[in-house]
Amino acid sequence: MKIPFLDLKTPHLQLQDELTAAMQRVLASGWFIAGPELESFEAEFARYCGAAHCVGVGNGLDALHLLLRAYGIGPGDEVLVPSNTFVATWLAVTQAGATPVPVEPDAATHNIDPARLEAAVTPRTRAIMPVHLYGQPADMDPILAVARRHGLVVIEDAAQAQGALYKGRPVGSLGDAAGTSFYPGKNLGALGDGGAVLTSDPAIADKVRRLRNYGSEQKYKHDVLGYNSRLDELQAAFLRVKLQRLDAWNVQRRALADAYARALPADLLVLPQVPAWAEPVWHLYVVRVADREQVQARLRAQGIDTMVHYPIPPHLQACYAGPDWGALPLAETLAREVLSLPLYPTMETAAVERVAAALRDAGLAPRNG
Ligand SMILES: *Cc1c(COP(=O)(O)O)cnc(C)c1O
Repeated sequence: MKIPFLDLKTPHLQLQDELTAAMQRVLASGWFIAGPELESFEAEFARYCGAAHCVGVGNGLDALHLLLRAYGIGPGDEVLVPSNTFVATWLAVTQAGATPVPVEPDAATHNIDPARLEAAVTPRTRAIMPVHLYGQPADMDPILAVARRHGLVVIEDAAQAQGALYKGRPVGSLGDAAGTSFYPGKNLGALGDGGAVLTSDPAIADKVRRLRNYGSEQKYKHDVLGYNSRLDELQAAFLRVKLQRLDAWNVQRRALADAYARALPADLLVLPQVPAWAEPVWHLYVVRVADREQVQARLRAQGIDTMVHYPIPPHLQACYAGPDWGALPLAETLAREVLSLPLYPTMETAAVERVAAALRDAGLAPRNG
């Protein structure tokens, strides 16, 4: 029996009736953009995240990009970003015309290391963009403390962490604003592209609302150079159905992560570490192995699919060739060693046991220390 890396089919088949009803509701309304489904979803998701405002947009990259624009961050400005993140975090900054300044992670959590932020701040720094990587909340309190000291904006990249808690509070409401993604593979995924901005600042919410709609608040009156980036009615209707399942799915993910933690050979691999204040939602279950390609091949031979998030850090991507990004040895080591194991809400606990057994038999060298 194969163990796929991800299963996007079963949960949607389980919700087929509700998703179909949602679609029929939109069809019957004849209203496809900026209607009642979007308005309802925005209210429901804002409440879920403990934010005053949610603004639906076309995708997660746009959510982050439009937020930077809303804060007036652009050419000449610097934004502190993790050195080990999905490239979209950096792309949002470069799309706004600003400069990403990479900060290395805490090796234990893979999240941006608050202790390294201060040294990266210059007179041009305008914002910090922490990523709640793999569904694990970043250590927000010290990040916010640095931001307050230097008058910086904190924009969370919450694309991988819908439902995660930091000291009991939901991500998306911890910084000044947050961008999130409803790409189908995320914990809360649409049936296509989607994203949202969360903030408790009504002026920022208004600016993003204008930017997503050609820079217009009043039809055919354009105050700023805007974009077209919207969360359509169909996706909003689907997301309303799926939002009701998000907590249950995250509970499943947590149970599987616990099962992995019990079953995996901790002497052979580095397992994810969870700080006491974190309640992660396990978008990905990422271990570190020295001989990754060999391990992947052994698992593949037993029908177990794995993936790598991410094999090339942003600063080594061809699109970011040119500038001197400084030495980022941690990002490069992680990129060489990280391995994402299968984890999705419909996965059986027995499958976790099989993955663990396969890893025990994979001929891994014991790790020293
Ligand atoms: C998925 C993702 C994004 C981008 O979201 P899209 O909807 O695919 O544009 C941004 N940041 C992180 C960390 C992500 O995982």
